[in-house]
Amino acid sequence: MQIDRIETFVLQAPLSGGQRFYSSQAPFSVRNSLIVKITTSDGAIGWGESGVSMPVSHLATYIHEVLAPRLLGVEADQINPIWHDLYGFSRDFGRKGASVDALSGIDIALWDLRGKVLDSSVHALMGGAHRSSVRAYATGLYYHPEDLSDADGAVARIRDEAARFLDSGFSAIKGKVGLLSLENDIRRMTAVREVVGDGFLLMTDANHAYNRHTARRMGETLQDLDYYWFEEPVVPEDIAGCAQLRQQLSIAIAGGECEYSRWGMRDLLEAEAVDILQPDLSACGGLSEGRNILALATAWHTPVCCHVWGSGIAVAAALQLTAIIPPIPHTASPRAPENEPMFEFDRTHNPLRDDLVDGGFALEGDQLRIPQDPGLGVQIDESVLKSFCVSHRESSR
Ligand code: CA
Repeated sequence: MQIDRIETFVLQAPLSGGQRFYSSQAPFSVRNSLIVKITTSDGAIGWGESGVSMPVSHLATYIHEVLAPRLLGVEADQINPIWHDLYGFSRDFGRKGASVDALSGIDIALWDLRGKVLDSSVHALMGGAHRSSVRAYATGLYYHPEDLSDADGAVARIRDEAARFLDSGFSAIKGKVGLLSLENDIRRMTAVREVVGDGFLLMTDANHAYNRHTARRMGETLQDLDYYWFEEPVVPEDIAGCAQLRQQLSIAIAGGECEYSRWGMRDLLEAEAVDILQPDLSACGGLSEGRNILALATAWHTPVCCHVWGSGIAVAAALQLTAIIPPIPHTASPRAPENEPMFEFDRTHNPLRDDLVDGGFALEGDQLRIPQDPGLGVQIDESVLKSFCVSHRESSR
């Protein structure tokens, strides 16, 4: 069962006026995904996704011009040797960034394919699940374009959105800070706490928009407001600054979505920079490396909650890995978030997440079900794939 064909699909879903938003760093007027499809000599198919940042078409170039010549004709079940070959040969130039993004999509597709051939979910192939569903948290509370010129309106809008999440059954919400002034961030996060009430689980994410001092001031406010975690307070290169904040603040520090591979995550863990590690499977090296990172995190007694930002394929892959995250530590009655993982469920408009996968992902109470079907556990709707595809490339034998 050799790899016969590797296809890439650059998907783009433009966002119309009211759907547009800003993270702490960038405006979003379109959602992009780079989808990988691998087909074997006997017709088996696997799907993967590469990368999480806004530009993705360069990953297709890398896959076809750099990786495909090493993959075509190789036995598709050799997932571990393939991973080490693709990573190892690119070590001199590609230990982080696009090369590992590209490798991630290949790895996810090979796991999906293997599961479908063996009629087994990925989590079953990896040794069995700790859970069949996971507590989802809403990722939202972004900035609206109007917020940039209307600080008072920004506070009113975030109140409305927090109330909608509450009504839709979520028991945990994460919102953004860092785009506007510290004063505005404090007003917005205070407003959210007022809407959801005491005891409701809240997190916030700065997309590394602060320096150390501003992050400390924001962190002190967030812990006074009883926020649970403070994500990416400072730039990912500032591991020492992140570790320093962790010592200075009682709020949990989360991070890792911009880091790559077990070696990158090792640096975060060795520096004791995070309380919660957040690998993104479409970037960190795929499901294979996600499992390695999980083992590494358990050695540092550090909980793992996957970062999830892509299409339905990225969501499905993250759900498969989340199934095998052990409670940290083991207890007679595991509870999220104390020792059970939570799952990042992006609520911004994204048809690539909601429509690409047959049936989508439905919240049951505050829980997301982990798909049990073979591979990633989802079927791709190829008519949806084609409708959003702006560039299709193929490498074959
Ligand atoms: Ca984040």
